[in-house]
Amino acid sequence: MSEVMERRPDAAARAVDLDAIVVGGGLGGLYALNRLRKLGLKARVFEAGSGVGGTWFWNRYPGARCDVESLEYSYAFDNDLQQEWHWPERYGNQSEILAYINHVADRFDLRKDVQLNTRVTSASFDPAVNKWTVRTDQGDVVTAPFCIMATGNLSTPRVPDFKGIERFKGKWYHSGLWPHEGVDFTGLRVAVIGTGSSGVQMIPLIAKQAKHLHVFQRTANFSLPARNAPMDPVREASHKAEYVERRAAAMLTPFCIAGHPAPTKSALDVPEDERNAQYEAKWAEGGSISFLYSYTDLLVNKEANDTASEFVRNKIRSIVKDQAVAELLAPKDHPIGTKRLCLDTNYYETYNRDNVTLVDVRSAPIQELTETGVRTSAGEYEFDAIVFATGFDAMTGALREIDIRVGNGPTLAEKWANGPTTYLGLMISGFPNMFVITGPGSPSVKTQMIAAIEQHMNWIGDCVAYLRERDLKRIEPSQKAEEEWVQHVNDVADSTLYPMANSWYLGSNIPGKPRVFMPYVGGFVPYKAKCDAVAANGYEGFVLSR
Ligand code: NAP
Repeated sequence: MSEVMERRPDAAARAVDLDAIVVGGGLGGLYALNRLRKLGLKARVFEAGSGVGGTWFWNRYPGARCDVESLEYSYAFDNDLQQEWHWPERYGNQSEILAYINHVADRFDLRKDVQLNTRVTSASFDPAVNKWTVRTDQGDVVTAPFCIMATGNLSTPRVPDFKGIERFKGKWYHSGLWPHEGVDFTGLRVAVIGTGSSGVQMIPLIAKQAKHLHVFQRTANFSLPARNAPMDPVREASHKAEYVERRAAAMLTPFCIAGHPAPTKSALDVPEDERNAQYEAKWAEGGSISFLYSYTDLLVNKEANDTASEFVRNKIRSIVKDQAVAELLAPKDHPIGTKRLCLDTNYYETYNRDNVTLVDVRSAPIQELTETGVRTSAGEYEFDAIVFATGFDAMTGALREIDIRVGNGPTLAEKWANGPTTYLGLMISGFPNMFVITGPGSPSVKTQMIAAIEQHMNWIGDCVAYLRERDLKRIEPSQKAEEEWVQHVNDVADSTLYPMANSWYLGSNIPGKPRVFMPYVGGFVPYKAKCDAVAANGYEGFVLSR
């Protein structure tokens, strides 16, 4: 950690005027800073954590690993960077990805404009001078014409408000707020609550350490084997030889990931044995994209999806020895892929261990935490440690926590009371000069996130340059453009199977959160084409003014 990062300037010295303020020092915020600097702008990043990295700084739970392959999940903006960096495994784990992000911060000398340990508390726009004033919990008051929210999609961890949580005498943890020193579960009685991507990754590893592990499952999730392995040097060399072309090819796929030939057939147009052979090959290959890309219609046709869902259910039945447990683990309430499809290493196998018990909290919900553990409607369980793998207030949580307003107008949280509205996921009407990186209404979490970040920030950078060249001081979407985009995002989602699942894409994991499908699932290609056309047409749908 550099000296510059740790130095805490006094309050007076911190009242500064900048060209742009960036909120968040993860992959989005760091790339934003780099891009803004290239435009000659004076920008500063505010980051709540004590280090850069965002998601990869906070999520240090056992087994935390990206479900996109490491050669894909990295920045594309600098060919030397992608040529030089060596990923040791097929999928990067948390510490490798965090090391990469720190390397990027050093290599591009970003740290001197990143202020750590600083949480942005408010952002208010003064329409008289067209400037944002951002305040932080460290007493900073910073002004700039542009504010860029790089606050992340899964950055507000959520511990359910279980009655009695304060009484529990053991230790509890959340996947997204994991202690930096790690946790040793050796010899302990442990509960993991939640079986999403985080739970599915940590459960096999905690089971190996704990004296006994109880997994509290409310909704069974589909998971596929990741088939992680050390990086194959031949594969790495051939990928690097074509890196630029591969990145370009990725931009022509729905999710910005190259290497998976587009499907050409409906799952219903092939005989059952051929279809199952295809799923079997994908299961053996590992990875979620390639599996869901087996046929054209797995995410739009329930009957087609049933074939893939049943294939995976049968896999679960074949792996898990106790058939009652297997049936509980086999998801039946949502089509495969409509909740984030998990990738695992020995997840289902873990339920064959003698020290692992699955607890169904759908039929017998958790009622409260006690001094010694968890009480469900079916009984009481004693634990030394409880792990919440209960997810995040996704996509809007971090933005709603900041008091964002224009003049004396309503806050962004108030505007979004019935669900988030944006134009292209990039800007919000009524909130001029504030850009969101991978905001709701953009493909974001349905793509390779770093590619989505780069596409957004390149668009934002071009937009800021356009305004500055023309001495335009203000940009915001028209109400009409925003309404039409929100309608389009909903129409596209409604043409798929996604709304059939109660997922965080819909906000349904947060009690009281409006049920609105947040990511844009029309695919990256039409989305980018729309963004590019909007810009080429003089920022069509936006109101630009002096
Ligand atoms: P999640 O997918 O939202 O899963 C949360 C889990 O906690 C669900 O099983 C949920 O059950 C359960 N839960 C929540 N409240 C509960 C309650 N009151 N009682 C019982 N169970 C409760 O969260 P996540 O696993 O942290 O993953 C979030 C997202 O982060 C992923 O979908 C993925 O996009 C990303 N992620 C990616 C990776 C990776 O790249 N490999 C790893 C981790 C996370 P219900 O389903 O019934 O709500």
